[in-house]
Amino acid sequence: MSFDSDTFRKVMGHFVTGVTVVTTLENGEPQGITVNALSSVSLEPPLVMVALDRRRHITPKVHASGQFAVNVLGEHQQLLADCFAGAPVQPGRERFCGAAWAPGSTGIPLLDGAIATLECAVVGVYPIGDHDLFIGRVDALHNDEHHPQPLLYYRRRYLRVERSESIAIEGRQEG
Ligand SMILES: Cc1cc2nc3c(=O)[nH]c(=O)nc-3n(C[C@H](O)[C@H](O)[C@H](O)COP(=O)(O)OP(=O)(O)OC[C@H]3O[C@@H](n4cnc5c(N)ncnc54)[C@H](O)[C@@H]3O)c2cc1C
Repeated sequence: MSFDSDTFRKVMGHFVTGVTVVTTLENGEPQGITVNALSSVSLEPPLVMVALDRRRHITPKVHASGQFAVNVLGEHQQLLADCFAGAPVQPGRERFCGAAWAPGSTGIPLLDGAIATLECAVVGVYPIGDHDLFIGRVDALHNDEHHPQPLLYYRRRYLRVERSESIAIEGRQEG
């Protein structure tokens, strides 16, 4: 390899993503971590994938609980994105960043104000490189039709949508 991991991260940073907090439960207590490695995997059945570094505190907790939720953040939730990524703030992650939350229909913690949520049961785990890929079967989901703009991640910084235009896609998006 003629490049280091920092260069890899820099190049991948050109792929704009949303920002999520992946949550789970440990002994009834909510746990969370900021994640952008989220992908839709299958429509029938509905499956998603999140990639968690095996060194993250939450990775063994998702293994143990067999459940996780994906909370898609709006731009008003940047402080939560920082806190759940380990920023030195109070209250910190050990106090769930002081975030308001409620259990979803499957019991997993859902963040108030998230612009979309997916509650998942782990149906597969694929260790690869330094990450575990968790495949989640989506058992419940929610989104508000009217919501704040999403928080975006681009070139290792947050990106805010100041000007947006919605353009129809001509290519086939399914089937
Ligand atoms: C926009 C963005 C996207 C990201 N996407 C991803 C991604 O897709 N996948 C990924 O793996 N990472 C991702 N990260 C990184 C991840 O969110 C942070 O690196 C991580 O939360 C920082 O944790 P850490 O390095 O302190 O290690 P951690 O392993 O999370 O924590 C270090 C130590 O702190 C202690 N600790 C931390 N939190 C708690 C807690 N709640 N309770 C008890 N002890 C605790 C534990 O002792 C732990 O060993 C992303 C970060 C950002 C900002």
